[in-house]
Amino acid sequence: LTMATNPAEYQPGQQEAPVVLTTVKDMLQWTQNWARSRSVWPFMYALACCGIEMMASASSPQHDLARFGSEVFRASPRQADLMIVAGTLSVKMAPRLRLLWEQMPDPKWVLSMGQCANSGGEFYDSYYTVQGVDTVVPVDIYVPGCPPRPEALIEGILKLREKIEKQGLNIRNS
Ligand code: SF4
Repeated sequence: LTMATNPAEYQPGQQEAPVVLTTVKDMLQWTQNWARSRSVWPFMYALACCGIEMMASASSPQHDLARFGSEVFRASPRQADLMIVAGTLSVKMAPRLRLLWEQMPDPKWVLSMGQCANSGGEFYDSYYTVQGVDTVVPVDIYVPGCPPRPEALIEGILKLREKIEKQGLNIRNS
C-alpha cells in the first residue's frame, strides 16, 4: 500500500486528501486480515489467578468481549487462533502448552497475560516455573500486571488486531 497526497486536489488550509495506491494482491490480503482481526477466537489456557480475570473479560457483561469478536473461547486448539496464556506456567506443563500450540491451525497468535506468563513473576523465580512463556512458544503480545484487569486484556487484544491488520502487507508512506 502506498499513501500519498494528490497535489492537484490540495488547497492551502484544507486537510490533505490521502491517495491510496495498491495491488489486487495487497487488497485481498488486507480484506483477509481485516476479517481475521475482527473474529479472533481465543483458546482457554487459564493457569492461575490471571485466568479469573480472563474469564471475567470473556463472560461478564461489563467487559463484553463480543464487541470485538473474541467472545468465542474454545476448549479445543483446533478451533482457536489465539492462545491466551493466563498465569503461572510450570516446567512440567510447558511441553503440553507447546503441543497444544502446535495443534492450533495457522495463522495463530499468542498473548502472554500477567507477570508470571511474561517473565515468571516476582513470586515464582524458581526451578519449577518457566521464566517467560516466550521460551516455549512465540509470543505476539505481552499484557503486564498481577493480575492485569480485563480492560488491560482487551487492550492487548486490540493491539493484536492492529498487528493482524498489517500482516503480509507492504506498507509505506510517501
Ligand atoms: Fe497470579 Fe499475579 Fe501470576 Fe497472574 S501474574 S498468575 S495474578 S501471581
